[in-house]
Amino acid sequence: MSLNELYRGVILDHYRAPRHHEHLAAPDGSAEGKNPLCGDEVTVEVKVEDGAVTEIGAVGVGCSISQASASMMTEAIVGKSRPEIDDIVHKFKVMMTIEDSDEDVVDPDRPGAALGDLEALQGVRKFPVRIKCADLPWITLEQALEDLE
Ligand code: ZN
Repeated sequence: MSLNELYRGVILDHYRAPRHHEHLAAPDGSAEGKNPLCGDEVTVEVKVEDGAVTEIGAVGVGCSISQASASMMTEAIVGKSRPEIDDIVHKFKVMMTIEDSDEDVVDPDRPGAALGDLEALQGVRKFPVRIKCADLPWITLEQALEDLE
């Protein structure tokens, strides 16, 4: 099995069985994101205690890239503190824009190696239109966190 097939399998698994795909009873912050180019929509809700995201929900409709990215994001973010979340968001952005980034990456062929399942999205950066799909839940997460303040 090639790496690309492996990545496709991970993306389809998250698309078919999205994690944290539910509305929270009493979210502390929430935001709605839309990507009109593709018709993707996602609502991200967070519950925050002592500076950490203790619960997260991401509910949406759209293509497999946007919905898988939302599912992977919830798994990566839940239980993390704000500095940890900022670090993950930064690593994700570097992975998606590696070709025009000055960052030193340990392994240029696997810039998302520290990101778990999210690494499966790195192939998307070859398709600029789809990067917006992958980015949507992350932009929406940042808006939901801003909504707290
Ligand atoms: Zn899309």
